[in-house]
Amino acid sequence: MSIPERKIEMAELGVLFATSEIAPLIKTGGLADVSGALPAALREIGVDVRVLVPGYSQVIEQLAEPQVVANLDDLPGFPMARLLSVTMANDVPLLVLDCPVLYQREGGPYQSPEGQDWSDNAMRFGLLSKVAAVLGSGATPLDWHPDLVHCNDWQTGLAPAYLHFAPDGAPSLIAIHNLAFQGNFPPEAVQLLHLPPSSFGIEGLEFYGKMSFLKSGLFYADHITTVSPNYAAEIQHEALGFGMQGLLSKRRDSLTGILNGIDTEEWNPASDPYLAKPYSSANITGKAANKKALQHKLALDIEPDVPLLGVISRFTEQKGLDALLEIVPLLCELPVQLAMLGSGDPDMQNAARELAHRFPGRIGLHIGFSEELSHQIEAGADMFVMPSRFEPCGLNQLYSQRYGTPPIVHATGGLADSVVDCTAASLADGTASGFVFNGMTAVNLYATILRSIDAYHDRHKWDTLCANCMRKDFSWETSAKAYRAVYMKVLGR
Ligand code: ADP
Repeated sequence: MSIPERKIEMAELGVLFATSEIAPLIKTGGLADVSGALPAALREIGVDVRVLVPGYSQVIEQLAEPQVVANLDDLPGFPMARLLSVTMANDVPLLVLDCPVLYQREGGPYQSPEGQDWSDNAMRFGLLSKVAAVLGSGATPLDWHPDLVHCNDWQTGLAPAYLHFAPDGAPSLIAIHNLAFQGNFPPEAVQLLHLPPSSFGIEGLEFYGKMSFLKSGLFYADHITTVSPNYAAEIQHEALGFGMQGLLSKRRDSLTGILNGIDTEEWNPASDPYLAKPYSSANITGKAANKKALQHKLALDIEPDVPLLGVISRFTEQKGLDALLEIVPLLCELPVQLAMLGSGDPDMQNAARELAHRFPGRIGLHIGFSEELSHQIEAGADMFVMPSRFEPCGLNQLYSQRYGTPPIVHATGGLADSVVDCTAASLADGTASGFVFNGMTAVNLYATILRSIDAYHDRHKWDTLCANCMRKDFSWETSAKAYRAVYMKVLGR
């Protein structure tokens, strides 16, 4: 994607986008997809966005000819660090926070290879937050001054606090991608991270006796966004507020839900290099070759007419995987197949392995992370199952619609905002795009899968549904415009 330079030269506003992961360099979930795509979409509409990300080993290894643009050796209480600068393949300027003692180690961004949270996460993401705030204040070592700092999730949640206490801090925004992850640490972290002791209180970063990175962001940021309108409403109530509902409800006039877009180049069935055969809504018959290839790859029986359910997910209760695993034996009494990709909870992984062993040829399972297989499941499955108990936005249901694979979803968060239940009325008006159920129970999930199988066997209905899915526009442009409008509102422009 080429950036119209003239637009950026005349940019009305500059935004520092601080994040703990960014695709394709480092990804554990949806935040990486957003960080990899939204800044480029914002630049397309003339916002000068630059991204700040930690220099994990995986990131540093992939940088081509980074330039050192600043030394950060005088941040009290923090180890020495530097800023490297590169331009991403999509032309987005990237600032990499290089601090080997904190970020260069074997393991994930948040956890060791054994799955334990890194014991120095407060310091690791305290530094990321601190540097975001420095770059957004007069103390910046760069000659670029953002008008606003856009933070994401708890890992950058202290930046709004640092900006608040800086004499000349820029306004800030915090985007919630998942309220369940909060970055709560012992109160000693306040002193460790050189925040004013007075900030540790209910009117500040205290959360039930802990020092909370997320609460800091929610309290001190000038505006809060979250990744779907429905989730913005849900988190103001106890059931999905994770203890933050009081604050969120109080700040509801500064809380905006903006549905995520998707990278429509990376997720394009007409040009996807991972697919056995590209296809589009005009020649959806090409999907059959992808189903066959997927069945072959996962050692499923080659059955063109047996409905194949796809799943790509973290194995957690949030994603409702426990309920799905519970009904697999019942599903296997039907002519149905399941292609599952994911990892997470060890008990759920074991349960999935046992089921795959018990139903050979019917359940294809890959425990792990595979970008390639995730594309192949989106294309090769007939329908996609995503029964999340809560879902801030969710990306896979968007990808699956783009790939003509109607999703089966629980009516929550972004799933409810992005999938229209298949009924006679929604089929008639051309909006039907999947199967939506209320009340997240194994029974309701099972009933809805049965409903989707009925529809699958009605060829005309199914073709209409798949065509509706593929016609939907989930490009980032709409979301980017909504973010720009929020930035302008925060800046009073
Ligand atoms: P979350 O961020 O809560 O895990 P999302 O649906 O918002 O869920 O985003 C998940 C992203 O991670 C999607 O791009 C999805 O395709 C991808 N993903 C999840 N698990 C895997 C996996 N095992 N292999 C490949 N991609 C995965």
